[in-house]
Amino acid sequence: MNGLLDGKSALITGAGSGIGRATALAFARDGARCVLSDVDEAGLEESLSLVQATGAEAVARTADVSREPEVEALLAKCIEAFGRLDCAVNNAGITGNPSPLAQMDLANWERVLSVNLTGAFLCLKHELVAMQAQGAGAIVNTSSGAGIVAAPFLSPYCASKHGILGLTKTAAAENARSGVRINAICPGSTDTPMMQKFMAGSPQAEKMIKGSMPGGRLGTPEEIAEAAVWLCSDRASFVNGTALVVDGGAVGR
Ligand code: NAP
Repeated sequence: MNGLLDGKSALITGAGSGIGRATALAFARDGARCVLSDVDEAGLEESLSLVQATGAEAVARTADVSREPEVEALLAKCIEAFGRLDCAVNNAGITGNPSPLAQMDLANWERVLSVNLTGAFLCLKHELVAMQAQGAGAIVNTSSGAGIVAAPFLSPYCASKHGILGLTKTAAAENARSGVRINAICPGSTDTPMMQKFMAGSPQAEKMIKGSMPGGRLGTPEEIAEAAVWLCSDRASFVNGTALVVDGGAVGR
């Protein structure tokens, strides 16, 4: 017992792939009991097996974060499984189809906003209900470098990730005396199935992304997960309402 999250229970959305899967494994390694959730049932089952294979306690439940009844049921599952919810990582997200803004399809705009921004709002809302009742908790919302700077051809993605930072600051200000901390992480380009799919769709995008990384490489999902572990741990007890950029220096240069 010497993990940063010993004795804590945690919810991770988008846990069936990429950063979410790495986050679930890192939380489990650091002693948390985890509820894994994703819309992708097969990916979720695989992540659950990987976490359980480490000997950690974990359960899984599918949920679409853009649907409030599913998010409510997910939070009920967290309480049923472990009696309380200490940490949450609202990580589920999609890029949507790339397109110039002038040609952006409204349905694509609405789908990305609904998963990325409404999804983060719904998770936050129901997590706060549980955590306020306990008088303690820590939440991390996954934004992006695209939450800080422009993301050409991904306007709904960029708007949703900027919106997540506004939600994070507002939730932190509202809850500063409640014992619940709310922060965001802004990953840079990270080697996940989402990123692989995005780069495979356009050699131009791949060149642009790889060229934008000062260290000459993408981040790993595990490097992003470490930031979420720390922000959810008691070591980050005075960190609230902030956006932690984890991108190898990409947006800062
Ligand atoms: P990923 O590999 O695609 O994993 C995301 C997971 O979320 C997938 O399993 C996906 O399922 C799931 N998901 C999609 N819509 C959902 C919904 N409505 N409800 C619940 N789960 C849903 O992506 P990732 O790269 O790990 O990204 C994780 C987060 O980091 C996202 O919020 C992303 O925007 C952010 N991020 C990623 C990067 C990067 O470079 N990879 C950079 C900055 C920020 P499906 O596969 O079925 O869609």
